[in-house]
Amino acid sequence: MSNKINNRQGESLAIFGGQPLFNSPKPTSNLVRPDPLLFFDYLRGKMTRSDGNLVEMLELRLASMHDTKNCVAVNSGFWGLALLLDALSLPSRKEIILPSLTYRRMADIVSWVGRVPHFCDIDLKTLANSGDTVRRCINDNTALIIGVHPVGGHCDVDGLESVAYEYGIPVIFDSVESVHEMHRGKRIGSFGVAELFSLGASKLINGFEGGYVTTNDDALAHQLRLKRSGRGAGLSLSVELPPFHAAMALAGLDDLPNQILRNRARFNRYAEELRGLPGLRLVRHSEETEPSHKNIVVEVLDDWQYTRDETIVLLNAQNILARAYYSPPLTHKPIGYEFIAADLPHTDWVADRYISMPCGHLVTLDDISKIVRFLSYLSSNHKSIRANLN
Ligand SMILES: *Cc1c(COP(=O)(O)O)cnc(C)c1O
Repeated sequence: MSNKINNRQGESLAIFGGQPLFNSPKPTSNLVRPDPLLFFDYLRGKMTRSDGNLVEMLELRLASMHDTKNCVAVNSGFWGLALLLDALSLPSRKEIILPSLTYRRMADIVSWVGRVPHFCDIDLKTLANSGDTVRRCINDNTALIIGVHPVGGHCDVDGLESVAYEYGIPVIFDSVESVHEMHRGKRIGSFGVAELFSLGASKLINGFEGGYVTTNDDALAHQLRLKRSGRGAGLSLSVELPPFHAAMALAGLDDLPNQILRNRARFNRYAEELRGLPGLRLVRHSEETEPSHKNIVVEVLDDWQYTRDETIVLLNAQNILARAYYSPPLTHKPIGYEFIAADLPHTDWVADRYISMPCGHLVTLDDISKIVRFLSYLSSNHKSIRANLN
């Protein structure tokens, strides 16, 4: 009975045993690949010139791009964050404030450096933490605040900085999702005490793996350089960025303006195609931030005929690897360590409503049209599909 449902190819839906719409998976990861020749050129420069310190070259280029005095590269965003938390948390205080609808390992890092994650709520407009949501969590035991930029758009940078200033607590920003963007006419990278970035393969600048911290605080930069080579006080590990990764990131930087144009074209295609489809709302970003459109996020509205999770199951069966946006919240995952969380009503509301859509290097404009047409098919045929789903 289930095979009676036909898609555009006149076959049954993949979830009921038909052929998937795509032969190869369409991921939500950026996986951007700059021209290999650029990458090899940087490596050749290193091997043939005595001055070819690729990591230093990368740090200078990134500091200049972010308009900050210092950039310290490390082998991942994860370890960059660990070193930062250790360097900046107020001594003899335990709690670090962070959102729970975020990067899945953020609370693990907090716990790993010996502190206690204190989860705050998010703002419904930005999907990120804000001055107001953080203020409710501050107490005499607050050691540090992490402002986290959401996928697309920005967190409340000004509100977070002013709460931090008011209470004398350091604030850092996890800016992995906002690398090349602008906040009030200033490039992201010099807000708070320091900002964290990643060079993982799914991020805007792909160094295979890697990460870096930007800061205008020279003493902090010095301290981080010692810490990343195992020579610093407190937490200190060998987490330097290998030159091979720096070469890839440098090639990615050369390609960045073009990458952003390609990302924008994908975003525009989603915007055009989704226009005729009520029930799904494309999350748009203010042009003032100069969005890089690395990821595409869609909100499932009340009049869409499926739940967010049903939609994802139906898409995944077609090799459309859409994913739940940062879900479940970290407070809903089995966590084997101490944490603090009050009710987080906005977090719970957002957690079931957003989808991260396929994008990045492996997704063509034509793929996007096909994906949205498939969504449209799901919508028009919801009665029969639902009957079969049940
Ligand atoms: C990926 C990511 C990190 C960690 O970076 P890695 O280089 O993968 O360790 C941190 N924060 C956010 C928001 C991320 O998306």
